[in-house]
Amino acid sequence: MRILFLGAPGAGKGTQSKKLSARLRLPHLSSGDLLRENVKEGTQTGVVAKSYMDQGNLVPDEILIDMFRARLTGPDCANGFILDGFPRTLVQAKALDQLLIEIHHPLTAVINLQINDPLLVERITGRRTCSNQSCQAVYHVKFSPPGNDMICDHCNNPLIQRSDDKEELVKQRFTVYAHETEPLIEYYDKKLLLKTVDAEGDRDNIFALVLQTLKVPV
Ligand code: AMP
Repeated sequence: MRILFLGAPGAGKGTQSKKLSARLRLPHLSSGDLLRENVKEGTQTGVVAKSYMDQGNLVPDEILIDMFRARLTGPDCANGFILDGFPRTLVQAKALDQLLIEIHHPLTAVINLQINDPLLVERITGRRTCSNQSCQAVYHVKFSPPGNDMICDHCNNPLIQRSDDKEELVKQRFTVYAHETEPLIEYYDKKLLLKTVDAEGDRDNIFALVLQTLKVPV
């Protein structure tokens, strides 16, 4: 399967795509994670990307397109993949279409995580992630806190807040989403790939809906 997740910031793309990746044993390709790895390693891409990410803006299309071309043509993606956060603009979506035609692997479905939650900003600003790169478990200070104060339940490393999850940047990320990414819903609907899933509520219930939508046994 070749699945793409769409959704506003905080809709749960990361959580649901990681769960689906584990369930289907397919690589989880998160644009945000790939960019943050580059930032952490101080690569040239990371230095450029950071200046956009720190403002809550999108990183230029060419950077993402080159990154995903390299990644999607890798041997681990031959049997499928789960895309999380790419594409985020029409230019990226068209480049992805072209690439998938070249490698003869069209998308199976696009899952749009639909959320209309007045608490969305609180959900994002309260989000904390494990600082251990190979764990990256996600918590929420109020809605799903760790057992031990700000320490990861899985690997005992400290939890951190993503710099762009601070309140002042979250509003800008919503504006960018509405202008640049929301039009992809119609784009994939016209291609008859779009499947909308109600993403409000418990993450396990939402995951059951995702599996049902993809006709994967729960
Ligand atoms: P995320 O972890 O998916 O919320 O992404 C964090 C940040 O990385 C975004 O706010 C953007 O600055 C950048 N980013 C992630 N994916 C893309 C993309 N497909 N195109 C441009 N910028 C992106």
